[in-house]
Amino acid sequence: MRYLSTRGHAPVLDFEAVVLAGLASDGGLYVPENFPQVTPQQLASWRSLSYTGLALEVMHPYVGNALTRDELKSLIDGAYASFRHSAIAPLKQLGDDQWLLELFHGPTLAFKDFALQLLGPMVDFFLKRADQKVVVVGATSGDTGSAALAGMRGRARIQSFILFPHGRVSDVQRRQMTTMTDVNIHNIAVEGTFDDCQDIVKSLFADAAFRNAHNLVAVNSINWARILAQVVYYFYAALRLGAPSQAVSFCVPTGNFGDIYAGYVAKQMGLPIDRLIIASNRNNILTRGLNTGTYKMQGVQPSLSPSMDIQISSNFERLLFDLYGRDAPALEGAMIDLRTSGSQTLSAAAWAGLKQDFDAHCVEDDETLQTIRRIYDQTGELLDPHTAVGIASAQACNTRTPLVTLATAHPAKFPDAVKQASSIHPALPPHLANLFDLPERFDILPNARDAVASYIESQKI
Ligand SMILES: *Cc1c(COP(=O)(O)O)cnc(C)c1O
Repeated sequence: MRYLSTRGHAPVLDFEAVVLAGLASDGGLYVPENFPQVTPQQLASWRSLSYTGLALEVMHPYVGNALTRDELKSLIDGAYASFRHSAIAPLKQLGDDQWLLELFHGPTLAFKDFALQLLGPMVDFFLKRADQKVVVVGATSGDTGSAALAGMRGRARIQSFILFPHGRVSDVQRRQMTTMTDVNIHNIAVEGTFDDCQDIVKSLFADAAFRNAHNLVAVNSINWARILAQVVYYFYAALRLGAPSQAVSFCVPTGNFGDIYAGYVAKQMGLPIDRLIIASNRNNILTRGLNTGTYKMQGVQPSLSPSMDIQISSNFERLLFDLYGRDAPALEGAMIDLRTSGSQTLSAAAWAGLKQDFDAHCVEDDETLQTIRRIYDQTGELLDPHTAVGIASAQACNTRTPLVTLATAHPAKFPDAVKQASSIHPALPPHLANLFDLPERFDILPNARDAVASYIESQKI
């Protein structure tokens, strides 16, 4: 399998190179040159597979010669061994044709573990084979950091530097990162906002000399391997609800558009998905874009679902590439418009294509809280605020098929919002019960690129 950049200038790469590259050198994102097709007969035969068996079938065609089937199988088996539910991604019925896909049984309690428990060991495997070392640098507003670190801790070939905004992540989120005290882990609290952290990371990656000197690797959600790992659970849920003879719809709490784009990939491969519902909080650029055909930036407003407080959804570019008929120059023009004018109007064909597969809905915080309360009263399930945005959106959209909402985080990850809604303080699961007793290790740095750069140089082993 070969991978192309959405902007058309970066070199065509194989799977291994794409995993280690992250972002393409022309500023675009890598996508596979085609989506391998799965027939209804094949789908039917996959029904009896376990989660990890299915993951092997779904992912193998994308990996090409980068890994043998056995190598991929052992990476997959290792990645999901730490999940605390034997189904890995259990489905729970909430009502008639309403389902919840619980994606929070991994070590850090958010769906990001599905990708990052695999990505860390996979990168490590490639590094051992090539006898190389890398430095991972990333910014987090909360969930990505702990999931990324959990996948990389203790791996001597990967030094990991995660930047988070000092005093602006929840205590649970901070402690999930800072109580990992392995020597290859470096937590940096930046005296600034999440956007400041991200700007620092971007500027380090944009500095070719720094990037090459330290072999920087990006593990944010633009990394293709993360998307690929997430495609699997769409297959898993749909097969359990009757695919291929029954079509299924999905509602996905969305920030960077990575998780829902994985659903789109599953559909392109032949999985019978009817609607894909983009669920947003008040940061609703995607809802407005789908309704009006104009994708317009508006600044980020904080909400009770902070992992979705995003202005620009990076992975949306991957979908746009297809909506523009894979015409890289046309897409590049549109992305430059967005950067320079803060707004991008879709072509008529692209807008129609978007509406063909997707619906969109956005939810304010008061409705998020009411949804947590109502679902708890009706079913006894406690939802985290991101999942509640999904459930509220699912209930606002009519589908003719079973509708699966992705439960993206465990309620104990966002105890304040859950308590505000339900008066219940959600308990951390047993493996994290001592989180507030463990020592923390992190360094506070000023909001300055050079301070972070010299910290990385001084700490790197
Ligand atoms: C990251 C995250 C999201 C958003 O996922 P994207 O892939 O960025 O769209 C939603 N909910 C939770 C809990 C998250 O951590």
